[in-house]
Amino acid sequence: KAKLDGKKTFRMYETGNEGWQDERSEQLYAIRRALSENEFRLYLQPKINMCSGEVVGYEALVRWQHPDNGLMFPQQFLPLINGTSLEIQLGEWVIRQALHHLQQWQSQSKQWQISINLSAYHLSSNGFLQRLAQIITEFPVVDLQYFQFEILESHALDDLSLIVDVVRHCRDEFTIRTVLDDFGTGYSSLSHIRTLPVSAVKIDQTFVRNMLVDVDDCKIVEGVIALARSFDLEVIAEGVESLHHGQILLSMGCELAQGYVIAKPMPAAELEQWNQQFVLPEAWLRYRNHRHH
Ligand code: C2E
Ligand code: MG
Ligand code: MG
Repeated sequence: KAKLDGKKTFRMYETGNEGWQDERSEQLYAIRRALSENEFRLYLQPKINMCSGEVVGYEALVRWQHPDNGLMFPQQFLPLINGTSLEIQLGEWVIRQALHHLQQWQSQSKQWQISINLSAYHLSSNGFLQRLAQIITEFPVVDLQYFQFEILESHALDDLSLIVDVVRHCRDEFTIRTVLDDFGTGYSSLSHIRTLPVSAVKIDQTFVRNMLVDVDDCKIVEGVIALARSFDLEVIAEGVESLHHGQILLSMGCELAQGYVIAKPMPAAELEQWNQQFVLPEAWLRYRNHRHH
């Protein structure tokens, strides 16, 4: 069994610690077991249009429902498997699970998107496109225009030209679009927006969160919105935690948002109920009349 420390985080090995290799292989074993025991869950967080109030779709965020430790968050187990075949296995589980939800929604005539987070490592791994094509055949009636990938802009996109090819193939052959996640935090952001065939950028939540207190972050957010627009890309803000954040974003012309003030990530079983009770906040309604485009 993998050992966990008090914070329910897998203990990170220290240099000079003789046992770390054993410990790591135990932790990897625990994750492999969790995959086969079906202990992972996809939580879904709504993305809404703050002008129309429409639910555009959901971002899928992985959780581990651990039998002893309760609900575990990605930071508590993803770092361990990043860059290993387990990451790819979990990633494929996420893809299947997301397509399953999409198929179900589409059978109920719901026009919601679903986006999943994919690492550059997974995306550029050997045979990614073939395996993806294979998974897609398991969902013959799904309209993939509603399926999106979010790729981390902050990751060292080592083999950029390979990633460009994969992202383009996904768009042109499968109609799967890609969003640049955490935009602005990585290096050479500005060239990525030009090189990668993405359809949207997601403004990183640290900029959004600090927008109210830091005039520089405010300028960055405004700049990213203008940049995205000039490249004909959609722009979505994440980490929208208050109505005021939403109002400022709306006044800057950013209509798409995701964040705790709208909803926290939730299990799929709760979507129906959340949708029924969700109403667009009054504070955002008055921006309806001065839309930017
Ligand atoms: P991300 O893709 O940038 O996802 C946004 C994170 O911010 C999520 O954390 C979400 O729960 C959180 N969040 C959303 N709204 C707010 C808000 O208003 N305030 C604050 N403070 N936080 C907010 P989570 O679920 O812990 O995921 C963390 C990161 O782990 C994700 O960042 C993503 O990079 C990664 N991740 C999650 N699921 C997967 C997955 O299935 N595969 C891969 N490769 N990475 C994943
Ligand atoms: Mg994301
Ligand atoms: Mg993000």
